Amino acid sequence: MQLANRVSQLKPSATLAVNTLAQELKAAGREVISLSVGEPDFDTPEHISQAAIEAIKSGFTRYTAVPGITELRQAAADYFNRYGAGAKVENVIISNGGKQCLYNLFQSIIDPGDEVLVPAPYWVSYPPLVELAGGSAAVVPAGVDKGFKVSVEDLERHRTPKTKACIMNSPSNPTGAVYTRQELDAIAEWAVANKVMLVADEIYDQLVYEPEVHSSLCAWWNKHPEYFTVINGVAKSYAMTGWRVGYTLVHPDLIKACNKLQSQSSSNICSISQKAALAALTGDQTCLAPMKEAFVRRRNLVMDIISSWPDVKCPTPGGAFYVFPDMSAHYNAAMPDSTSMCKFLLDKAGVALVPGEAFGDDNCIRLSYATADSTLQKALELVGKALFNK
Ligand code: GLU
Repeated sequence: MQLANRVSQLKPSATLAVNTLAQELKAAGREVISLSVGEPDFDTPEHISQAAIEAIKSGFTRYTAVPGITELRQAAADYFNRYGAGAKVENVIISNGGKQCLYNLFQSIIDPGDEVLVPAPYWVSYPPLVELAGGSAAVVPAGVDKGFKVSVEDLERHRTPKTKACIMNSPSNPTGAVYTRQELDAIAEWAVANKVMLVADEIYDQLVYEPEVHSSLCAWWNKHPEYFTVINGVAKSYAMTGWRVGYTLVHPDLIKACNKLQSQSSSNICSISQKAALAALTGDQTCLAPMKEAFVRRRNLVMDIISSWPDVKCPTPGGAFYVFPDMSAHYNAAMPDSTSMCKFLLDKAGVALVPGEAFGDDNCIRLSYATADSTLQKALELVGKALFNK
């Protein structure tokens, strides 16, 4: 069948592909531990699920306004305002997860030939989302020796007259790197001076571990809404990945464009999910701390084991729930890259991990530690045994 070029050239999401493969292997009877997909293993907190049940029971099951119900847009604006956004309801649009927020944004600002700077390692979906809009992703590498963070100088080296935007993801998926206030402010000043829009994906803002602190770009949006867009959502902090609720803080002109696009593509997001997200943002917040504590404990457990692996470089992640060790010292003729190493580990150890190649750094592999401590311990022992006979 003749498919459109845009789809023929599109690669499927590597994170979701590895997770599906692990599920298929498990269904076929193989023992597989998946540390592939980034999704909290906790149930959605009870009061949030209850709000959804009440929404169904009370018949809140019809179309809503395209950008979402006012109460939820207000709650999302209030969320951004914690970081100094000064946002109002009309500055926020609710979309189907962070992915649709980014999709709408790039479709609204990118013309064919435009470039978007994508610091690498990057989340797998950034380049395809840019390319689907006809743009090209200009990858700005920042390897393990730079703590996986780019500087103004790195960005400036890749800027061209066609540079329209630059993605900033702090805390980062896949590295867990957290930019400091100073680092982020320097990049924000550069962006304003060069008329480059900074697209801040802050989906892991609640998952930042001491002594690191989250630095947001919301206050920069407040001053220069034409050069900043901030994206967040409930998926990671509130264990709500399947509910698909993301929100974008965006310039008034752009919000009209995103709204138009969403009205013609997907309409409002699920009405029930909106009520659940409202309960998440405005309800009892005590559910957050135990989940965060578990992630810190697991991060430490994973780092204890990985730091005993020979010749593996891995900065301690300051946030999110991933580690991204540089395994390249162990590549060899039979296992020359991250993809072959992940294949080997799936076959030999029964552990599913995502190759760093999918994130723009073939020296590394990604492990998600959003899973039970005992499972993590077992998976890492299996990996250590398969690779180092440890
Ligand atoms: N963001 C998560 C991950 O990187 C979920 C899967 C996805 O959408 O990529 O694993």
